[in-house]
Amino acid sequence: MATCLPNAPLHRRPEAARPSRALILHSRTLEALRPLGVTQALLAQADIAPTVDLQIGSRMVRVTLAGLALPDTAFPHLSLIRQMDVERVLAQALADRGIQVEHGTELTGVRDGPESVRATLRSPARTEEILVGFVAGCDGPASTVRAQAGIDWRGRQYPAEVILADAELDGDLADDAARVVAGRQGLLFVFRLGEQATWRLLATRPAGGNELTPGQFGPPVPAAELQALMDEAGLSARITGLAWSSRIRVQRRMADRFREGRLFLAGDAAHAYSPATGQGMNAAIQDAANLGWKLAFAAARPGNGQLLDSYDAERRPVARQVMAMTHLAFWAEASTGPVASVLRGRLAPSAAPVVPVLLGRHRLVAEGMRLVSQLRVSYRGSALSVEGTPHRPAGPRAGDRLPDQLVTAGGRSIRLHDLLAGPGVHILLDRDADRLDTLTPGRFVHVHRLASVPGRGLIAVRPDGYVGFRCQATEASQLAAWLTCLRAGIFCGHDL
Ligand SMILES: Cc1cc2nc3c(=O)[nH]c(=O)nc-3n(C[C@H](O)[C@H](O)[C@H](O)COP(=O)(O)OP(=O)(O)OC[C@H]3O[C@@H](n4cnc5c(N)ncnc54)[C@H](O)[C@@H]3O)c2cc1C
Repeated sequence: MATCLPNAPLHRRPEAARPSRALILHSRTLEALRPLGVTQALLAQADIAPTVDLQIGSRMVRVTLAGLALPDTAFPHLSLIRQMDVERVLAQALADRGIQVEHGTELTGVRDGPESVRATLRSPARTEEILVGFVAGCDGPASTVRAQAGIDWRGRQYPAEVILADAELDGDLADDAARVVAGRQGLLFVFRLGEQATWRLLATRPAGGNELTPGQFGPPVPAAELQALMDEAGLSARITGLAWSSRIRVQRRMADRFREGRLFLAGDAAHAYSPATGQGMNAAIQDAANLGWKLAFAAARPGNGQLLDSYDAERRPVARQVMAMTHLAFWAEASTGPVASVLRGRLAPSAAPVVPVLLGRHRLVAEGMRLVSQLRVSYRGSALSVEGTPHRPAGPRAGDRLPDQLVTAGGRSIRLHDLLAGPGVHILLDRDADRLDTLTPGRFVHVHRLASVPGRGLIAVRPDGYVGFRCQATEASQLAAWLTCLRAGIFCGHDL
């Protein structure tokens, strides 16, 4: 999708839905989406206590990825949800705000200029040129925006392909759990999340000779081949009906820059990961959460500065870390090299008795989930992360995600992320902090006093939930300088 602000988002595909690739939604993504008011709708569609039977050799180990020791988030679980449902909920949230996604319209050209971008759009009815302030290229791995911005796309294809299929299965499968089997060729997953049949099967295997466009759905896979994959992995189930299947060639690549002038890249247009640990869609949404408010603030108060530069400076290092994690996990999951094969085929079965012991270490599991779900992401080095004077010695630092916790504000006990669920910048005053008389809260700048947090300082939280400024005292001039750097001053009662 290429988003032309302030125009509607547009989409080359004529139809709204396509088969889902992603099935995993992480806690940090739910947090990032909270200000849009969509988390209840997403959770209603999701399995928020997913149970997985891990089949390792002849052993079966049951794992439930819920109720994790993550007290600082309202979502201490993994969520299984089809990408199609996530896209539907987000499209509905746009429709509720009077914005329709323009399907069947393709962005064919962008020309960046000093004041605006000239974009060429082609639909069945016409080809037109429009002038827009910015373009967010969320147009997937073969991004037109990236190509036209002249941004390099470095990396390589994996020598593996992922098989997706929706099938009816008859056999030894629990009704209440997904199954993951460690086979010699790679991991094989079956989830009760099929779109055209009960089960969704996901498997990896060495790539065939045919050239497939990376990241795109390729030709179907015959039932006999799928059955052979299941037999080889040791899953005792038979395919009794195959509704849909596809092969996808996977790659690991990253754009050299996420911004060129008024053109921005987000999601798979900026980084393409292996599917291991389920990061691509989550990272795409978190990119958008980082970029969206910056574009909105920049559009309200034009000018150059650190605000828009910070998108690349903050998100590219995160993309590099995610790339390393997904590469390592995919190597363990899908490599047919001798080390990974021995790891899966021999070491994993011998280590199987230890798995329940490890899973019983709640802190260990929680820390693993914290890493995978991006709760650890921090922008401490960003120009937008400012430590005020006097220094605030405790609590989250400038650049850190604001942890969720129970607080008292306005005479009631409330979770902090609920208090901050409205869009905009939130300034949190300690219990005994001076009043911010020089700052009038505005439409996108909110001030809250936390009666449960002793002290005289403040924390200012960006619209995407990261601490931007903190100080041990109510230093209004330092706060105003930070708001000006964000171009958020315009949203206060007076123009900073
Ligand atoms: C097997 C598999 C499993 C996965 N599982 C997970 C998972 O569990 N969790 C997870 O987070 N991620 C997962 N992913 C990754 C995830 O699917 C992608 O990262 C995600 O779809 C990226 O979204 P995107 O919007 O950036 O790009 P895309 O999904 O590629 O969407 C881009 C859209 O832009 C449109 N478009 C392209 N060019 C133009 C143009 N010029 N004009 C207009 N429109 C255009 C395209 O038609 C397309 O619909 C998985 C991937 C695979 C292959």
